[in-house]
Amino acid sequence: MTKTYRIDENGYYGRFGGAYVPEILYRCVKELQERYLVELESETFKQTYHRLLCDYAGRPSPLYHAVRLSERTGCRVYLKREDLNHTGAHKINNTIGQILLAQRMGKRRIIAETGAGQHGVATATVCALMDMPCVVYMGKTDVERQQPNVQRMQMLGATVIPVTSGNMTLKDAANEAIRDWCCHPADTFYIIGSTIGPHPYPDMVARLQSVISEEIKWQILEKEGRDYPDYLIACVGGGSNAAGTIYHYINDERVKIVLAEAGGKGVCSGMSAATIRLGREGIIHGARTLVMQDEDGQIEEPYSISAGLDYPGIGPVHAFLYERKRADVLTVDDDEALTAAFELTRMEGIIPALESAHALGALKKVRFAPTDVVVLTVSGRGDKDMDTYIRTFMNQ
Ligand SMILES: *Cc1c(COP(=O)(O)O)cnc(C)c1O
Repeated sequence: MTKTYRIDENGYYGRFGGAYVPEILYRCVKELQERYLVELESETFKQTYHRLLCDYAGRPSPLYHAVRLSERTGCRVYLKREDLNHTGAHKINNTIGQILLAQRMGKRRIIAETGAGQHGVATATVCALMDMPCVVYMGKTDVERQQPNVQRMQMLGATVIPVTSGNMTLKDAANEAIRDWCCHPADTFYIIGSTIGPHPYPDMVARLQSVISEEIKWQILEKEGRDYPDYLIACVGGGSNAAGTIYHYINDERVKIVLAEAGGKGVCSGMSAATIRLGREGIIHGARTLVMQDEDGQIEEPYSISAGLDYPGIGPVHAFLYERKRADVLTVDDDEALTAAFELTRMEGIIPALESAHALGALKKVRFAPTDVVVLTVSGRGDKDMDTYIRTFMNQ
Protein backbone atom coordinates (compact mmCIF):
# COMPACT_ATOMS: atom_id res chain seq x y z
CA MET A 1 0.00 0.00 0.00
CA THR A 2 1.38 3.40 -0.88
CA LYS A 3 1.57 5.93 1.90
CA THR A 4 -1.17 8.48 1.69
CA TYR A 5 -1.85 11.59 3.65
CA ARG A 6 -5.31 12.24 2.23
CA ILE A 7 -8.51 12.46 4.17
CA ASP A 8 -10.55 9.25 4.62
CA GLU A 9 -14.25 8.81 3.79
CA ASN A 10 -15.29 9.77 7.33
CA GLY A 11 -13.41 13.06 7.30
CA TYR A 12 -10.35 11.95 9.28
CA TYR A 13 -6.61 12.23 8.78
CA GLY A 14 -5.56 9.39 11.09
CA ARG A 15 -7.11 10.33 14.45
CA PHE A 16 -7.49 14.00 13.52
CA GLY A 17 -10.49 15.76 11.99
CA GLY A 18 -14.10 14.58 12.06
CA ALA A 19 -17.19 16.69 12.67
CA TYR A 20 -18.03 17.38 16.33
CA VAL A 21 -21.03 19.67 16.02
CA PRO A 22 -24.14 20.36 18.11
CA GLU A 23 -27.24 18.38 17.19
CA ILE A 24 -28.90 21.41 15.61
CA LEU A 25 -26.14 21.73 12.99
CA TYR A 26 -26.01 18.05 12.18
CA ARG A 27 -28.27 18.26 9.14
CA CYS A 28 -26.61 21.21 7.47
CA VAL A 29 -23.08 19.86 8.07
CA LYS A 30 -24.22 16.52 6.65
CA GLU A 31 -25.71 18.27 3.62
CA LEU A 32 -22.41 20.08 3.06
CA GLN A 33 -20.48 16.80 3.39
CA GLU A 34 -22.69 15.24 0.74
CA ARG A 35 -22.62 18.17 -1.67
CA TYR A 36 -19.16 19.73 -1.59
CA LEU A 37 -17.27 17.27 -3.79
CA VAL A 38 -20.07 16.93 -6.31
CA GLU A 39 -20.23 20.71 -6.69
CA LEU A 40 -16.47 21.40 -6.61
CA GLU A 41 -15.89 18.79 -9.29
CA SER A 42 -18.72 19.80 -11.61
CA GLU A 43 -17.65 21.42 -14.87
CA THR A 44 -19.82 24.52 -14.41
CA PHE A 45 -18.41 25.18 -10.95
CA LYS A 46 -14.83 24.72 -12.15
CA GLN A 47 -15.36 27.08 -15.09
CA THR A 48 -16.83 29.90 -13.00
CA TYR A 49 -14.31 29.41 -10.19
CA HIS A 50 -11.30 29.53 -12.52
CA ARG A 51 -12.63 32.47 -14.48
CA LEU A 52 -13.02 34.47 -11.26
CA LEU A 53 -9.60 33.39 -9.99
CA CYS A 54 -8.04 34.72 -13.20
CA ASP A 55 -10.08 37.78 -14.13
CA TYR A 56 -11.12 38.92 -10.67
CA ALA A 57 -8.43 37.78 -8.21
CA GLY A 58 -5.52 38.16 -10.66
CA ARG A 59 -4.23 34.59 -10.88
CA PRO A 60 -1.92 32.95 -11.63
CA SER A 61 0.19 34.58 -8.96
CA PRO A 62 3.85 34.91 -10.04
CA LEU A 63 6.59 32.51 -8.93
CA TYR A 64 9.51 34.87 -8.46
CA HIS A 65 13.17 33.84 -8.28
CA ALA A 66 14.43 36.03 -5.43
CA VAL A 67 18.05 36.50 -6.48
CA ARG A 68 19.46 38.42 -3.54
CA LEU A 69 17.55 36.35 -0.98
CA SER A 70 18.89 33.22 -2.72
CA GLU A 71 22.48 34.45 -2.40
CA ARG A 72 22.00 35.10 1.29
CA THR A 73 20.31 31.74 1.89
CA GLY A 74 22.76 29.71 -0.19
CA CYS A 75 20.26 27.95 -2.45
CA ARG A 76 17.68 28.78 -5.12
CA VAL A 77 14.72 30.52 -3.46
CA TYR A 78 11.45 31.16 -5.27
CA LEU A 79 8.63 33.19 -3.74
CA LYS A 80 5.03 32.23 -4.52
CA ARG A 81 3.43 35.67 -4.59
CA GLU A 82 -0.01 35.27 -2.95
CA ASP A 83 0.50 38.83 -1.69
CA LEU A 84 -0.34 40.04 -5.20
CA ASN A 85 -3.88 38.64 -5.17
CA HIS A 86 -6.91 40.93 -4.98
CA THR A 87 -7.48 41.90 -1.30
CA GLY A 88 -3.84 41.16 -0.50
CA ALA A 89 -3.59 37.51 0.52
CA HIS A 90 -4.43 33.91 -0.38
CA LYS A 91 -7.80 34.15 1.43
CA ILE A 92 -9.68 35.20 -1.72
CA ASN A 93 -9.03 31.79 -3.40
CA ASN A 94 -11.15 30.18 -0.71
CA THR A 95 -13.93 32.77 -0.39
CA ILE A 96 -14.60 32.78 -4.15
CA GLY A 97 -15.04 29.01 -4.04
CA GLN A 98 -17.23 28.95 -0.94
CA ILE A 99 -19.58 31.70 -2.10
CA LEU A 100 -20.15 29.86 -5.40
CA LEU A 101 -20.96 26.74 -3.37
CA ALA A 102 -23.33 28.74 -1.12
CA GLN A 103 -25.20 29.99 -4.19
CA ARG A 104 -25.44 26.51 -5.67
CA MET A 105 -26.86 25.23 -2.37
CA GLY A 106 -29.50 27.97 -2.37
CA LYS A 107 -28.17 29.75 0.76
CA ARG A 108 -29.07 33.41 1.08
CA ARG A 109 -27.01 34.78 3.96
CA ILE A 110 -23.26 34.60 4.63
CA ILE A 111 -21.47 34.64 7.96
CA ALA A 112 -17.74 34.51 8.71
CA GLU A 113 -15.22 34.86 11.54
CA THR A 114 -12.06 36.88 11.23
CA GLY A 115 -8.89 37.60 13.22
CA ALA A 116 -6.66 40.13 11.48
CA GLY A 117 -9.56 40.92 9.19
CA GLN A 118 -8.09 39.43 6.02
CA HIS A 119 -10.66 36.64 5.81
CA GLY A 120 -13.40 39.10 6.76
CA VAL A 121 -12.36 41.42 3.93
CA ALA A 122 -12.12 38.54 1.44
CA THR A 123 -15.61 37.37 2.48
CA ALA A 124 -17.14 40.87 2.39
CA THR A 125 -15.58 41.29 -1.06
CA VAL A 126 -17.21 38.22 -2.60
CA CYS A 127 -20.52 39.08 -0.88
CA ALA A 128 -20.45 42.50 -2.57
CA LEU A 129 -19.63 40.77 -5.86
CA MET A 130 -22.51 38.31 -5.52
CA ASP A 131 -24.93 40.74 -3.82
CA MET A 132 -25.39 38.67 -0.67
CA PRO A 133 -25.80 39.95 2.91
CA CYS A 134 -22.72 39.38 5.06
CA VAL A 135 -22.14 39.31 8.83
CA VAL A 136 -18.55 39.11 10.11
CA TYR A 137 -17.75 38.23 13.73
CA MET A 138 -14.53 39.75 15.03
CA GLY A 139 -13.06 39.88 18.55
CA LYS A 140 -13.24 43.35 20.07
CA THR A 141 -9.45 43.35 20.62
CA ASP A 142 -8.95 42.68 16.92
CA VAL A 143 -11.56 45.28 15.92
CA GLU A 144 -9.47 47.85 17.78
CA ARG A 145 -6.05 46.80 16.44
CA GLN A 146 -7.16 46.22 12.83
CA GLN A 147 -9.23 49.36 12.13
CA PRO A 148 -8.40 49.70 8.40
CA ASN A 149 -9.74 46.19 7.71
CA VAL A 150 -12.89 46.89 9.75
CA GLN A 151 -13.49 49.98 7.64
CA ARG A 152 -12.89 48.05 4.42
CA MET A 153 -15.48 45.44 5.44
CA GLN A 154 -18.00 48.15 6.28
CA MET A 155 -17.41 49.98 3.00
CA LEU A 156 -17.99 46.65 1.22
CA GLY A 157 -21.38 46.46 2.91
CA ALA A 158 -20.71 43.87 5.63
CA THR A 159 -21.97 44.11 9.20
CA VAL A 160 -19.03 43.70 11.59
CA ILE A 161 -20.03 42.43 15.04
CA PRO A 162 -17.43 42.92 17.81
CA VAL A 163 -17.22 39.88 20.12
CA THR A 164 -16.55 40.50 23.82
CA SER A 165 -16.12 36.98 25.22
CA GLY A 166 -12.74 35.38 26.14
CA ASN A 167 -9.71 37.46 25.22
CA MET A 168 -11.83 38.88 22.39
CA THR A 169 -9.81 37.46 19.47
CA LEU A 170 -10.19 34.89 16.70
CA LYS A 171 -11.21 31.87 18.80
CA ASP A 172 -14.02 33.91 20.37
CA ALA A 173 -15.16 35.21 16.99
CA ALA A 174 -15.37 31.62 15.70
CA ASN A 175 -17.44 30.60 18.75
CA GLU A 176 -19.87 33.42 18.03
CA ALA A 177 -20.12 32.57 14.32
CA ILE A 178 -20.98 28.97 15.24
CA ARG A 179 -23.64 30.27 17.62
CA ASP A 180 -25.16 32.37 14.80
CA TRP A 181 -25.08 29.33 12.49
CA CYS A 182 -26.99 27.30 15.10
CA CYS A 183 -29.75 29.94 15.04
CA HIS A 184 -30.03 30.06 11.24
CA PRO A 185 -28.96 26.64 9.93
CA ALA A 186 -31.36 26.57 6.99
CA ASP A 187 -30.60 29.80 5.10
CA THR A 188 -27.06 30.65 6.25
CA PHE A 189 -23.73 29.55 4.80
CA TYR A 190 -20.74 29.81 7.13
CA ILE A 191 -17.60 30.66 5.12
CA ILE A 192 -14.71 29.40 7.28
CA GLY A 193 -11.36 31.04 6.51
CA SER A 194 -8.87 28.24 7.13
CA THR A 195 -8.40 24.45 7.16
CA ILE A 196 -10.22 24.22 10.48
CA GLY A 197 -13.76 23.45 11.61
CA PRO A 198 -15.87 20.30 11.18
CA HIS A 199 -15.47 18.01 8.15
CA PRO A 200 -15.77 18.91 5.25
CA TYR A 201 -14.24 22.36 5.87
CA PRO A 202 -10.56 21.35 6.27
CA ASP A 203 -10.66 19.32 3.04
CA MET A 204 -12.83 21.83 1.18
CA VAL A 205 -10.58 24.78 2.06
CA ALA A 206 -7.44 22.79 1.17
CA ARG A 207 -8.95 21.97 -2.24
CA LEU A 208 -9.89 25.60 -2.87
CA GLN A 209 -6.35 26.68 -1.96
CA SER A 210 -4.73 23.85 -3.96
CA VAL A 211 -4.56 26.18 -6.96
CA ILE A 212 -1.35 27.45 -5.32
CA SER A 213 0.52 24.16 -5.77
CA GLU A 214 -1.20 23.48 -9.10
CA GLU A 215 0.48 26.65 -10.39
CA ILE A 216 3.80 25.94 -8.65
CA LYS A 217 4.00 22.69 -10.65
CA TRP A 218 4.05 24.27 -14.09
CA GLN A 219 5.84 27.41 -12.98
CA ILE A 220 8.80 25.54 -11.45
CA LEU A 221 8.92 23.24 -14.49
CA GLU A 222 9.31 26.31 -16.70
CA LYS A 223 12.05 27.77 -14.54
CA GLU A 224 13.98 24.74 -13.31
CA GLY A 225 13.16 22.02 -15.83
CA ARG A 226 11.47 19.81 -13.22
CA ASP A 227 8.00 20.07 -11.77
CA TYR A 228 8.89 19.79 -8.08
CA PRO A 229 11.06 21.73 -5.63
CA ASP A 230 13.25 20.19 -2.92
CA TYR A 231 11.53 22.22 -0.22
CA LEU A 232 8.17 23.88 0.31
CA ILE A 233 7.93 26.43 3.12
CA ALA A 234 4.82 28.16 4.47
CA CYS A 235 3.54 29.72 7.68
CA VAL A 236 0.66 28.07 9.59
CA GLY A 237 -2.12 29.76 11.50
CA GLY A 238 -5.07 27.46 10.83
CA GLY A 239 -3.08 26.09 7.92
CA SER A 240 -4.81 27.07 4.65
CA ASN A 241 -1.96 28.71 2.72
CA ALA A 242 0.31 25.84 3.75
CA ALA A 243 -2.32 23.27 2.74
CA GLY A 244 -2.64 24.89 -0.70
CA THR A 245 1.13 25.08 -1.12
CA ILE A 246 1.68 21.38 -0.40
CA TYR A 247 -1.57 19.91 -1.79
CA HIS A 248 -0.23 18.42 -5.02
CA TYR A 249 3.07 17.35 -3.43
CA ILE A 250 1.75 15.77 -0.27
CA ASN A 251 2.44 12.20 -1.40
CA ASP A 252 5.68 13.11 -3.23
CA GLU A 253 8.40 12.27 -0.71
CA ARG A 254 11.10 13.98 -2.81
CA VAL A 255 9.63 17.25 -1.60
CA LYS A 256 10.39 18.24 2.00
CA ILE A 257 7.72 20.24 3.81
CA VAL A 258 8.61 22.93 6.35
CA LEU A 259 5.84 24.62 8.35
CA ALA A 260 6.49 27.78 10.39
CA GLU A 261 4.50 28.33 13.58
CA ALA A 262 4.32 31.55 15.58
CA GLY A 263 6.52 31.31 18.66
CA GLY A 264 5.35 34.70 19.98
CA LYS A 265 7.71 35.81 22.73
CA GLY A 266 9.20 32.29 22.91
CA VAL A 267 7.72 28.78 23.03
CA CYS A 268 8.20 28.50 26.80
CA SER A 269 7.33 32.10 27.64
CA GLY A 270 3.61 31.51 28.17
CA MET A 271 3.03 33.97 25.32
CA SER A 272 3.09 31.82 22.22
CA ALA A 273 0.89 30.49 19.44
CA ALA A 274 3.06 27.43 18.64
CA THR A 275 0.09 25.06 18.65
CA ILE A 276 1.77 22.00 17.15
CA ARG A 277 4.66 22.27 19.60
CA LEU A 278 2.57 23.06 22.68
CA GLY A 279 -0.80 21.49 21.89
CA ARG A 280 -2.37 18.26 23.03
CA GLU A 281 -5.13 16.30 21.35
CA GLY A 282 -8.54 17.84 21.89
CA ILE A 283 -11.54 19.30 20.11
CA ILE A 284 -11.81 22.86 18.90
CA HIS A 285 -14.44 24.36 16.60
CA GLY A 286 -15.79 21.00 15.53
CA ALA A 287 -12.57 19.07 14.82
CA ARG A 288 -10.26 16.74 16.76
CA THR A 289 -6.76 18.18 16.48
CA LEU A 290 -3.89 19.59 18.52
CA VAL A 291 -5.12 22.32 20.84
CA MET A 292 -3.33 24.62 23.29
CA GLN A 293 -5.04 23.72 26.57
CA ASP A 294 -4.33 23.47 30.28
CA GLU A 295 -4.49 20.39 32.52
CA ASP A 296 -8.29 20.68 32.77
CA GLY A 297 -8.77 20.95 29.02
CA GLN A 298 -9.46 24.69 29.15
CA ILE A 299 -8.25 26.35 25.97
CA GLU A 300 -5.23 28.56 26.60
CA GLU A 301 -5.07 32.04 25.13
CA PRO A 302 -2.51 32.12 22.35
CA TYR A 303 -0.28 35.08 21.59
CA SER A 304 1.54 36.19 18.45
CA ILE A 305 2.53 39.59 17.07
CA SER A 306 0.71 38.44 13.95
CA ALA A 307 -3.08 38.36 14.39
CA GLY A 308 -3.45 35.82 11.55
CA LEU A 309 -1.38 33.20 13.42
CA ASP A 310 -2.92 33.87 16.83
CA TYR A 311 -5.07 30.72 17.03
CA PRO A 312 -4.96 27.92 19.67
CA GLY A 313 -5.81 25.14 17.17
CA ILE A 314 -4.34 23.84 13.91
CA GLY A 315 -5.74 22.10 10.86
CA PRO A 316 -6.19 18.35 11.43
CA VAL A 317 -4.13 17.59 8.33
CA HIS A 318 -1.16 19.51 9.73
CA ALA A 319 -1.38 17.68 13.08
CA PHE A 320 -1.36 14.44 11.09
CA LEU A 321 1.58 15.42 8.85
CA TYR A 322 3.56 16.37 11.95
CA GLU A 323 2.74 13.12 13.73
CA ARG A 324 3.73 11.08 10.66
CA LYS A 325 6.93 13.13 10.35
CA ARG A 326 5.93 14.16 6.82
CA ALA A 327 6.33 17.83 7.78
CA ASP A 328 9.00 19.58 9.83
CA VAL A 329 7.53 22.20 12.11
CA LEU A 330 9.75 25.13 13.11
CA THR A 331 8.93 27.87 15.57
CA VAL A 332 9.62 31.47 14.62
CA ASP A 333 9.38 34.13 17.33
CA ASP A 334 8.03 37.68 16.98
CA ASP A 335 11.47 39.30 16.75
CA GLU A 336 12.73 36.76 14.21
CA ALA A 337 9.68 37.40 12.02
CA LEU A 338 10.14 41.17 12.25
CA THR A 339 13.81 40.89 11.25
CA ALA A 340 12.91 38.64 8.32
CA ALA A 341 10.22 41.11 7.17
CA PHE A 342 12.69 44.02 7.14
CA GLU A 343 15.29 41.92 5.33
CA LEU A 344 12.89 40.89 2.56
CA THR A 345 11.79 44.49 2.19
CA ARG A 346 15.33 45.78 1.71
CA MET A 347 16.63 42.82 -0.27
CA GLU A 348 13.76 42.30 -2.69
CA GLY A 349 11.50 45.35 -2.39
CA ILE A 350 8.60 43.27 -1.07
CA ILE A 351 6.89 44.17 2.23
CA PRO A 352 5.38 40.87 3.44
CA ALA A 353 2.49 40.31 5.86
CA LEU A 354 3.68 39.55 9.40
CA GLU A 355 2.29 36.02 9.01
CA SER A 356 4.37 35.40 5.87
CA ALA A 357 7.42 36.84 7.67
CA HIS A 358 7.31 33.74 9.89
CA ALA A 359 7.88 31.54 6.82
CA LEU A 360 10.80 33.81 5.86
CA GLY A 361 12.19 33.47 9.39
CA ALA A 362 12.13 29.67 9.00
CA LEU A 363 14.31 29.96 5.89
CA LYS A 364 17.26 30.79 8.16
CA LYS A 365 16.78 27.69 10.30
CA VAL A 366 17.21 25.05 7.59
CA ARG A 367 20.57 23.95 6.16
CA PHE A 368 20.25 23.85 2.39
CA ALA A 369 22.58 22.49 -0.29
CA PRO A 370 23.54 25.08 -2.97
CA THR A 371 21.57 23.16 -5.61
CA ASP A 372 18.39 22.98 -3.53
CA VAL A 373 15.28 24.54 -5.04
CA VAL A 374 13.06 26.11 -2.39
CA VAL A 375 9.55 27.48 -2.90
CA LEU A 376 8.31 29.73 -0.09
CA THR A 377 4.76 31.06 -0.08
CA VAL A 378 4.38 34.77 0.69
CA SER A 379 0.80 34.44 1.91
CA GLY A 380 0.01 38.16 2.01
CA ARG A 381 1.23 41.73 1.77
CA GLY A 382 2.27 43.94 4.66
CA ASP A 383 -0.06 46.92 4.20
CA LYS A 384 -2.22 45.88 7.16
CA ASP A 385 0.89 45.59 9.37
CA MET A 386 2.42 49.00 8.68
CA ASP A 387 1.63 50.27 12.20
CA THR A 388 3.60 47.42 13.78
CA TYR A 389 6.46 47.79 11.30
CA ILE A 390 6.71 51.54 11.82
CA ARG A 391 6.69 51.20 15.62
CA THR A 392 9.48 48.59 15.39
CA PHE A 393 11.47 50.71 12.98
CA MET A 394 11.22 53.79 15.22
CA ASN A 395 12.46 51.87 18.25
CA GLN A 396 15.64 50.68 16.56
C1 LIG B 1 -5.00 34.49 7.50
C2 LIG B 1 -3.59 34.58 7.07
C3 LIG B 1 -2.64 33.58 7.41
C4 LIG B 1 -2.95 32.42 8.31
O1 LIG B 1 -3.93 31.56 7.87
P1 LIG B 1 -3.64 30.14 7.23
O2 LIG B 1 -4.97 29.53 7.15
O3 LIG B 1 -2.71 29.41 8.16
O4 LIG B 1 -3.01 30.36 5.90
C5 LIG B 1 -1.36 33.70 6.91
N1 LIG B 1 -1.00 34.74 6.15
C6 LIG B 1 -1.87 35.73 5.83
C7 LIG B 1 -1.39 36.85 4.98
C8 LIG B 1 -3.19 35.68 6.27
O5 LIG B 1 -4.03 36.66 5.94
